Amino acid sequence: MPRILITGAAGFLGSHLCDRFIAEGYEVVAMDNLITGDLRNLEHLQALPQFSFVHHDVSTHIHLNGPLDYILHFASPASPIDYLKIPIQTLKVGSLGTHNCLGLALAKNARILVASTSEVYGDPLVHPQTEEYWGNVNPIGPRGVYDEAKRFQEALTMAYHTYHGLETRIVRIFNTYGPRMRLNDGRVLPAFIGQALRGEDLTIFGDGSQTRSFCYVDDLIEGIVRLLHSDCADPVNIGNPDEITIGQFAEEIIALTGTSQKVIYKDLPVDDPKQRQPDITKARALLGWEPQIDRKEGLKRTYAYFRSLTQEELRQTDHNNFDQYIQK
Ligand code: UDP
Repeated sequence: MPRILITGAAGFLGSHLCDRFIAEGYEVVAMDNLITGDLRNLEHLQALPQFSFVHHDVSTHIHLNGPLDYILHFASPASPIDYLKIPIQTLKVGSLGTHNCLGLALAKNARILVASTSEVYGDPLVHPQTEEYWGNVNPIGPRGVYDEAKRFQEALTMAYHTYHGLETRIVRIFNTYGPRMRLNDGRVLPAFIGQALRGEDLTIFGDGSQTRSFCYVDDLIEGIVRLLHSDCADPVNIGNPDEITIGQFAEEIIALTGTSQKVIYKDLPVDDPKQRQPDITKARALLGWEPQIDRKEGLKRTYAYFRSLTQEELRQTDHNNFDQYIQK
């Protein structure tokens, strides 16, 4: 039975990865410090003998007994309001946390895949974004703590690959959505659906002309699994190229939820990218991968998940344990 360590396992993507590798017959070691993750995302796996959970902050040394075949490094705050609340932790997990994961991979002779992001392209001047584009990032802006940590993560991962010959993979993840997104993580889909379910107006930041391209989580997970088993050490974009303005997206959520609330406009956050669309030519060619689930179907499944939450969960403003980290 291959053994895999998944960091950030209690988060949105981490928990879906746990499901996938359990289903494929792996022994899964799930690790999370639970500042943005939630153990409820892993509840259904806890009793399985091939699953274990370790409560640990990967920004500090990781000790793990036994052999390891693979590491997936997915630990990181991943929404703009999270990085604003815990900027230092965001920098640490992308840099020190990645260093610890790479060191562990080397010690165990494991293949490692790290979660990078379309944020490495910043507010892109090339559209759609190919892997060859170096990006347009403001290092000292509010998003810099995430963007630069992930850029450093890529540099460190490539250095371990070239210097140590470690088997490394880098996935650049574009906007992804689906069940288990945190309702209050501030990102646009849970924000709009939460507002619709609570009977509040939908808040568009800016004039709504900025674009994003949303990938359903199952498609993303499939792309990651294929990349892990490929022999490509260079970064690969995984995302859905179906681009939409945030204004149109609000209209789709209004139609989906049947809310009678209206749209209201708020200030655009600093350095909010104006456009984003993955060029997935490389993923198509190398992995034979492309998204299968369109936004209509993906939104239907995601809405069913959010509708299943209790009123109390819907009204919770923040269930995360940031306080101990804000001091550091
Ligand atoms: N956004 C919005 N209203 C919200 C939350 C987000 O209009 O309540 C906008 C945000 O300004 C950005 C887009 O939606 O232009 C996507 O934001 P998100 O935080 O989901 O992801 P990211 O900016 O990292 O792509």
